[in-house]
Amino acid sequence: MVALPPPSDLTVAAIYAAYEADSADGYRAHLGASGIGGGCDRAIWYGFRWASRARHTGRLLRLLETGNLAEARFVADLRRIGVTVLDLDPATGRQWTLRDATGHFGGSMDAVAIGLPEAPKTWHVCEFKTHSEKSFLALQKDGVVASKPTHWAQMQVYMHLAGLDRAFYLAVNKNTDELYQERVRADTEAGLRLLAKAERIVRAVHPPARISDDPTWWQCRFCDHHAICHEGLLPERHCRSCLHSTPITDGTWHCARHTCLLSLDDQRRGCAAHLLIPDLVPGTQTDAGEDWVSYRMPDGAEWRDGVPA
Ligand code: SF4
Ligand code: SF4
Repeated sequence: MVALPPPSDLTVAAIYAAYEADSADGYRAHLGASGIGGGCDRAIWYGFRWASRARHTGRLLRLLETGNLAEARFVADLRRIGVTVLDLDPATGRQWTLRDATGHFGGSMDAVAIGLPEAPKTWHVCEFKTHSEKSFLALQKDGVVASKPTHWAQMQVYMHLAGLDRAFYLAVNKNTDELYQERVRADTEAGLRLLAKAERIVRAVHPPARISDDPTWWQCRFCDHHAICHEGLLPERHCRSCLHSTPITDGTWHCARHTCLLSLDDQRRGCAAHLLIPDLVPGTQTDAGEDWVSYRMPDGAEWRDGVPA
């Protein structure tokens, strides 16, 4: 057999690997405003229930970091022309954090600003984004609501939760450094609808309907949860995938099995009494007892979740 040549670009590969090693575990504590405008409610529920980890390649992690690093430059650009920009919450000295009434839904605003030449006396929620050439051209042609509805929805949520009625969207073309700006009005009805959608998903005991039952549907092909949704893969075991867990008030989680609150570390660890939420098992429940549930799986076999028989 001919020996394979050694891998090339070892340094680049090592940099990407370092990004992957340093990345978080892919489980987000709360339901994020950045995703609430997504088309598939089930995908959002899966994300909230940690059905699949968000696994990004080193290259993509670096790209995401590029977007984060650009924020400081957007802030500096605005300050350069005399705009007052608060990128940190003066009350905490940290990033602006917004949560809804459940405590489980919200996000972090990039900044708030006053003194924009178009409306010098109005505070704005600021949203800063980097775009590929193609995405930037679509943004210029169609505006943010049509070309980036998830960004528009994110700003509507932030305006609603922050009590502001204008947002300022500032975007850059990564190829040319050309900037795009758009002022966005608060749409109270849309804000309420998005908050209601988030609360419905937070409280949902069962996964919401699929956007499509066709696994080759375009949104499904790009979905992190495809294998769980369409291929019968079982999710990992942690409290978010356990039938005993419930999101309760103020963003906290409760375990009915042990009658206790669950910290984020607890939720990641789970415990030996874990039982999968039945809707996450691609079978039909046939029986149940203390700390076990049995299912008939699609191939006809019996499968028992929980303590062995
Ligand atoms: S695979 Fe498709 S239907 Fe399933 S969660 Fe993802 S987008 Fe929704
Ligand atoms: S039974 Fe265990 S895994 Fe399930 S919610 Fe309680 S602590 Fe978490």
